[in-house]
Amino acid sequence: MNRQDKRHRRVDEILVVKARKKKKAASDEKFEADSLVIGVNTSGCIVTGGEQPGFAQSVSRLCHTKISVVPGDRVAIRHEKVVFVAPRLTVLSRSEPGNANLQKVIAANIDILVIVAAITDPPFRPALIDRYLVAATRGGIRPIVCLTKIDLCGDTSAAEVYREAGVPLVRCSVKDGTGVEELRGLLAGSLAVFAGHSGVGKSSLLNAVAQEERARTGAVSDGSGKGRHTTTSSKLYELPNGARIIDTPGIREFGLGAVTPEELRGAFPEIAACGCKYRDCRHNAEPGCGVLAALESGEISRTRYASYLRIAAEVPR
Ligand code: GDP
Repeated sequence: MNRQDKRHRRVDEILVVKARKKKKAASDEKFEADSLVIGVNTSGCIVTGGEQPGFAQSVSRLCHTKISVVPGDRVAIRHEKVVFVAPRLTVLSRSEPGNANLQKVIAANIDILVIVAAITDPPFRPALIDRYLVAATRGGIRPIVCLTKIDLCGDTSAAEVYREAGVPLVRCSVKDGTGVEELRGLLAGSLAVFAGHSGVGKSSLLNAVAQEERARTGAVSDGSGKGRHTTTSSKLYELPNGARIIDTPGIREFGLGAVTPEELRGAFPEIAACGCKYRDCRHNAEPGCGVLAALESGEISRTRYASYLRIAAEVPR
């Protein structure tokens, strides 16, 4: 084959790829992604909404999928199968255990990540909050830090640093109802996910925020029409103020993989604001470092700084 033939062949190949893309875009346009994925299990995904005879609008059902979907995905369903997934606007992801380079998407199209942390029992662990803040920055999701069990310990000063960093901080107790209304207000009209260590009070808080509305998700059909699964750990809570909360289990360990300087700046704005004059400073020993000076003068928290250094060690240089 001479050079001209080769060039023609390349042009032909490019035209074929373009035509395929155009055809796919045209076929995608035929589908309206009017169902919401609220959970995924080994048999398929659980969706709510969409047009389906015999199903009320907000009743969930199990659909089969060969396409990879996550809670929060907007999908089109035909004959109990996912045929189209709308492009994701935001993603919450973590690295795969044992393979830091591989990101696993946990939820999509989430507006708000509610980072739930107990002030005591289990003890307050800010390191995980900081990791979630990096993930929120990465995925374009607004974070809220929600302190639970404040009826057990009224001193929440350790968490005030998040409010100072510009992250909404809500102090809650499901025992006396503190903060529940405030949290409900912050979630109005949004799709949210609750995340945090096991035992911090996520389920209790979800129930308190959702009140009796939690029953709305209904039962899950297996799609065959023969039976109904009633056991699923995924739930969609719909609140009268338009808030929708997806309760996704299993986001306890939170690997970040390689973190970028932008993600660090987004999660630690008070450290970024120190105005260190060195461009490539690691902020851990350099003489004249602005961050170390702010640490010495008490302008930035030692806990946040330690967390910053740990996560910064994951930034590729
Ligand atoms: P999850 O694992 O994060 O979903 O945590 P749970 O909601 O199951 O709560 C764990 C334990 O903490 C349960 O025994 C709850 O009753 C208790 N708990 C949850 N929220 C509060 C709270 O605001 N105050 C107190 N005192 N206990 C709480």
